[in-house]
Amino acid sequence: MAFATLVGQSDLKARLGSILAQEPGHAYVLTGPTGIGKTTFATEFAQALLCHQPSEAGACGICSACHHFTHQAHPDFRTLLLDSKDKVIKVERVRQTVQADIALRPQFGQRKVYLIDADYLNEQGQNTLLKSLEEPPQFVTFVLMTQGPEKLLPTILSRLTVLPLRRYPTADVIEILHRELDLQNLPRPDEATLGFYARYANGIPGTALNLITSSWFADLRQETIEFYSQIGRLSRAQILTTGYTFFDSNRARADVLLDIIGSLTRDQLVLAVTNDSRHLTNSDQEQRLTLPQTKQRHDAVPGLIRATAAIATARRGLKLNASFEGLACQLLLTLRKELIHA
Ligand SMILES: [Zn+2]
Repeated sequence: MAFATLVGQSDLKARLGSILAQEPGHAYVLTGPTGIGKTTFATEFAQALLCHQPSEAGACGICSACHHFTHQAHPDFRTLLLDSKDKVIKVERVRQTVQADIALRPQFGQRKVYLIDADYLNEQGQNTLLKSLEEPPQFVTFVLMTQGPEKLLPTILSRLTVLPLRRYPTADVIEILHRELDLQNLPRPDEATLGFYARYANGIPGTALNLITSSWFADLRQETIEFYSQIGRLSRAQILTTGYTFFDSNRARADVLLDIIGSLTRDQLVLAVTNDSRHLTNSDQEQRLTLPQTKQRHDAVPGLIRATAAIATARRGLKLNASFEGLACQLLLTLRKELIHA
């Protein structure tokens, strides 16, 4: 399969096409958040670099190099990815896979390709790789992947051509979900549900797919919606007991809980300000989130803005490992107060 057949990312596809149309350089890095499709595009790009007759659409898919590649048996393709038992790619593996190997000529074609997940190289690993990146043999091309260029040492980054992946429009995420669910032989939810996941995942197909196939997300979302819809009616004592118990029981997934609450608050704010339901994330909850009267909607806006800020504060606290009880109670009290109109 050629990368041109993948959904979306037209800028990236055009750049890969023009790289293949000329003599490819020595080192590239694909950037973008986890789940955006870096590995998919990087693998397609690697196959095209090794293909005997690539076009601007990517690998031909039929030559002997492509045949070996798709059977994971191409002798000139090396990968340096995280071993599931490790937290980082060990320096020793960088030495063995890259340093000790780089001078050896390709066995099959004109080129060797190293595919490296640079997010799992620590500083020592990056410095070891740097030696090979500085003066690679003319037949070597590196394809790195990272969530963001700032994760790389400047000395590494300066040797790479950056190829960014962008967040997908909702329609593209839905198309990717169709393809992936079919490919994995999984049942397809209805279109409205797929639409929710695509919007909720904010343009990242991998996130949407993980949530759809998870055993817990749909339940957590439903429980959170129930909780959210009564939060303004709870007494202060109830919010600190029932409310906190709900948060505490989902402590391990507090980031997702905050994301769900954030998406509900955001939708309510959109409805309160515009009274337009076309851009809701939780469009299946429109009735619940709509305030019937204009005055009520206007009155709710300042509180919803403060609630949004409080959710952001809680998220930061979570990242900084602040006391869970402290940040949860603070947020719950704020939500109760600010969502009183909502
Ligand atoms: Zn080919």
